[in-house]
Amino acid sequence: MTETIEAPAAVRPIHHWIGGQSRSGQSGRSGPVFNPATGQQSGEVDLATPAEVDEAVQAARQAFPAWRALSLSRRTELFFTVRRLVDENRKEIAKLLTAEHGKVLSDALGEVARGLEVIEFCCGIPQLLKGGFSEQASTGIDVYSIRQPLGVVAGITPFNFPAMVPMWMWAPALACGNTFVLKPSEKDPSASLWTAELLKEAGVPDGVFNVVMGDKVAVDAVLTHPDIAAVSFVGSTPIARYVYETATSTGKRCQALGGAKNHMIVLPDADIDMAADAAVSAAYGSAGERCMAISQVVAVGGAADPLIDAIRERIPKVTVGDGMDPSSEMGPLVTREHRDRVASYVENAPGEGAKVLVDGREGAPEEGFFLKPSLLDDVKPGMRAYEDEIFGPVLGVTRVGTYDEAVRLVNENPYGNGTAIFTRDGGVAREFQFGVQAGMVGINVPIPVPVAYYSFGGWKASLFGDRHIYGPEGIDFYTRGKVVTSRWPDPATSKVDLGFPQTR
Ligand code: NAD
Repeated sequence: MTETIEAPAAVRPIHHWIGGQSRSGQSGRSGPVFNPATGQQSGEVDLATPAEVDEAVQAARQAFPAWRALSLSRRTELFFTVRRLVDENRKEIAKLLTAEHGKVLSDALGEVARGLEVIEFCCGIPQLLKGGFSEQASTGIDVYSIRQPLGVVAGITPFNFPAMVPMWMWAPALACGNTFVLKPSEKDPSASLWTAELLKEAGVPDGVFNVVMGDKVAVDAVLTHPDIAAVSFVGSTPIARYVYETATSTGKRCQALGGAKNHMIVLPDADIDMAADAAVSAAYGSAGERCMAISQVVAVGGAADPLIDAIRERIPKVTVGDGMDPSSEMGPLVTREHRDRVASYVENAPGEGAKVLVDGREGAPEEGFFLKPSLLDDVKPGMRAYEDEIFGPVLGVTRVGTYDEAVRLVNENPYGNGTAIFTRDGGVAREFQFGVQAGMVGINVPIPVPVAYYSFGGWKASLFGDRHIYGPEGIDFYTRGKVVTSRWPDPATSKVDLGFPQTR
């Protein structure tokens, strides 16, 4: 929020959404939203006070009893309508994502498609909430399990997937019967208001889905609010840790997904062209601003030189430009500050002993927050470019002699989000899948984001909490179990018995 703004053309105010309507902020605090392709400010977003967060929570609280009591068939019907509306409006939301985030339109459409998969999964909520039933567990007694919603739950989301990551949260949360307060990233907040209007149009009652815009003040108010039962967070590791520790210390259930440093191992027997295509796509897609981006290639033995040559051949062909231009393959970074931070890794690489093979600072469009793809060789543990999550279009290559050294690098890394191996050897791939310390593993697949009927989540510093997000674990996260032991009066078996209940 420190950037200087030069004569903004049209700055749109961006407000909260509480109880089914837009609500302008009263805090007197707001922050700029930029079009990263031009560098111009396009919006000014309200930053909530704790009282405004409370208003949203109270709206969600009031909406909860009726929403949880709605029949499963009606909730399913609503989800089918939501699914249809998102599908019909894909292009509109994609443009909104490109305008504030900067990612190219095709990538924005991909984001919407992956989020839509989660909504589709939630259309099957009656099946997902089925419990177990044991007839005659004891004589005349039946036992059954049910799953019930938690109440008001909150989601705090990052800038890099302004539509999809909130969908990972609100879709299963609402399908399970909870009501929701979303605190989106203040860098690209408009997608969340688009979602709010769409849910209203679908017929979701007012107060079931609320949005509070804000920064740390709003996050802290969410984390400590006594009426919020659970918090889902996706963002960087230091904030994920803080969110997890604060939310759980106030008795909330919490899943907090953090940052990543995803390694892609390439063995000498791999199809080098396929590995190079994968590395370029996974490192530079969305300008590297994906938590599942490949930021580090680990080239084993003889794979290194041909792989680097193949990556270098491909880099100049990546078209960098305004995401709204259909010919662009890579857009700008989200803010000027972030662009400069990413560029500093390229600047500092030679001083740390790495080689800059391709310098993405050269030839990048001057307007907006652009960098072109960079490629670093001889990146080693201990260097900043190796240790930090760069979150930009900078791919590092580490050369190692053996498969064991490569896997050790992955397993010793503090993060454990995604990882991939490129090989033609099924036995080695299986050994990799068996032993590697990461939550999502790709075998000849560079970005192994699970489909919606599995769950998404990393290990180690990439996830705090014990439930992954969306899929079956998402349903578990947003519900709690209850087991009912039931007997209907049968005068023939009724008697006083002060002993501890036993099965008979
Ligand atoms: P961020 O951690 O800066 O922000 C995430 C959210 O936390 C935002 O809503 C922000 O307003 C809030 N926040 C920021 N600073 C805070 C503070 N000091 N106290 C309380 N709240 C604060 O992350 P970002 O830059 O928006 O997103 C990029 C990060 O998210 C990367 O590290 C990326 O790897 C990670 N990410 C992870 C996943 C995953 O699934 N593991 C997915 C997407 C993004």
